[in-house]
Amino acid sequence: MIDRQESEISTNLPPAPYRLRLPGPTAVPECIRTAMAQPMLAHRGPEFSAILLEVERKLKPIFGTENRILMAAATGTGMMEACLVNVLKAGERILVVVNGQFGERFAAIGRALGVGVDTLEVPWGEAVDPSDIETRVGTHDYRAVVLVHNESSTGIVAELADIGAVLRNRPTLLLVDSVSGLGGVEMRQDEWGVDVVVSASQKALMCPPGLGLASVSQKAWQIVNREDGLPRFYFDFRKYRSEIEEGATPYTSAVSLILGLNEALYMIHDEGIPEVLARHRRISSALRAGCAAIGLANFPTKGRVSNTVCVFRAPAGLDGNTIVRRLYEKHGTVIAGARNKLAGKVIRIGTMGDIREGDILTDLLYIEDVLAELGHKLRRGAGVNAASAVLDS
Ligand code: PLP
Repeated sequence: MIDRQESEISTNLPPAPYRLRLPGPTAVPECIRTAMAQPMLAHRGPEFSAILLEVERKLKPIFGTENRILMAAATGTGMMEACLVNVLKAGERILVVVNGQFGERFAAIGRALGVGVDTLEVPWGEAVDPSDIETRVGTHDYRAVVLVHNESSTGIVAELADIGAVLRNRPTLLLVDSVSGLGGVEMRQDEWGVDVVVSASQKALMCPPGLGLASVSQKAWQIVNREDGLPRFYFDFRKYRSEIEEGATPYTSAVSLILGLNEALYMIHDEGIPEVLARHRRISSALRAGCAAIGLANFPTKGRVSNTVCVFRAPAGLDGNTIVRRLYEKHGTVIAGARNKLAGKVIRIGTMGDIREGDILTDLLYIEDVLAELGHKLRRGAGVNAASAVLDS
C-alpha cells in the first residue's frame, strides 16, 4: 500500500511562496483553473461540440486568420512535427532558419523525418534578414521555409510580414512555430502570408501544457492533401480538418484543456486583443529597463525583441544558473536559464499571459537582492525605479 503520509510528495501543491515566472508554462489564472475543474463532458456530445467551435471562433482573430483551427492533444514540439509531416514528401527539401534552440529543434525534426534539411544559420540573439531567405529560395527548390516566430531561447522575433512577402508568389510554403508568441506577440497569418502556424496552450494562452494548435492556409492545404506525402497517422491534419467541420476532433479531445482555453479566450477578448498585446509590450519593456539599470544586458542584439520572453546576459563572473537557483531557493521565484549553448550565460523570464506590473516589480526586487548577495555591484532600488518609470510613462 502507498501511504500518502509517508510519500515524499504528499500534496500536489507547490511550496509557498512559489512564483512561476518561466517563459512557459506560465501561471494559470484561478478562473481558468476553475473552468477546467468542471465535470467531464462527452467529447462528441453537443455540449462539448459547442464549446470547441466557440474556442475556434475566439482563436481565429488571435491567429489573424479565417482558416479552420486544428486542435490536438500534444505539446508544442508535437505540433512542430505535425506541421512538417503534413507538408513534406520523401525527397523534398526545407530551409530551416536557425537562430536559437527551437530553430535547431525544427531542423532536427526534419532530419528525423528523413527529408532534406538546409539551415540558414543566424547568430543567436539576432533575427533573420528576409533578404537572406530571398537569396536562398532564389537558388534552391525548397518545399518550405521553416522558422520560429518568437525564439524563446534568445528573445528575438522574426519579421514575418517581410518574410511572407518574399514567399507570397512562390510555391514555397512558410511554416512558423509561434508556440511562445501567439497571444502575446502580434500574429496576422492571412495578411502576412504565413502558411502554417503552430502553437500550444501553456504560454501566452495561460493554460496548462498539453493542447496543440495549428492553422493551415489554402496554399498549404493543396500540399497537405497530397496522397504521396510522408506517412502520418495521429497528426494527419486532413482528419482534424474534417472533424472540426463537425465540431469535433478525430481522437478524444483534451476536454478539460479546451474548457480552460475557452475561459482564457474570454479573458483575452474581454480585455481586447490590441490591449493584451500592448500590455505585453509595456510589461516587457519595463522589465528590460529595470534589468538594464542593474547591469543585466539584454541578450538580443539585432532585430525586434520579444514581448513575451526577456533574455538577459548573466553579469561577468556570475553563472546564470546560480542566479536562477538562488531566486528559487530564497524567493520561491522560478525563472529559466538555458539548456543549450547559452547554459550559464543567460537568464530568461516570462512576460506573457496573465502578467501584471506587480509581477515584474517583484521580480526586480528579488533579482536585485540575489545579485547583491552574489556580489554584483548595483544600487538597490535602481531596477524597480527604472521599471516604474517606464510603467508610469
Ligand atoms: N517552440 C518554442 C518557441 C518554445 O518556446 C517551446 C517550448 O518552450 C517549444 C517550441 C516546445 O514546446 P513543448 O515544450 O510544449 O513541446
